[in-house]
Amino acid sequence: MKTICFDFDGVIAHYDGWKGVDVFGKPNWDVIDAMKQLKSRGYHIIIWTTRKATSALKGYLTRCNVPYDAINSCSHNPPNTSQKPIYHVFIDDRAIQYRGQKTPKLIRTIEHLITNGEPILAGEGETSGAQATN
Ligand SMILES: [Mg+2]
Repeated sequence: MKTICFDFDGVIAHYDGWKGVDVFGKPNWDVIDAMKQLKSRGYHIIIWTTRKATSALKGYLTRCNVPYDAINSCSHNPPNTSQKPIYHVFIDDRAIQYRGQKTPKLIRTIEHLITNGEPILAGEGETSGAQATN
């Protein structure tokens, strides 16, 4: 089962800081369109979010026609494992892909994301962004 996890805040919905349990940002239609296309291609889609799966959240997802198979659960995790979902790709607005970066670059990349809220981009003293391999 090819599984893709999507974060909610900052990915499915725009996010500019916590406003409340049932307060959501405007839909990010490019992400939602991608989710629809991926779902139609047979991918298993999990929404993995800090938010609980409230009726308000589910209502938002329904109103925006966001396709998903689960929220904060992964039915194919083996017994006696944590709740971390098993996935092929995780789409998140605050993630760094580890590709063997050496310690200094890894720390620089992490601290840049924490300080600026954005990954290091080409032209900011790095050559190939947060996913660079050295
Ligand atoms: Mg987020």
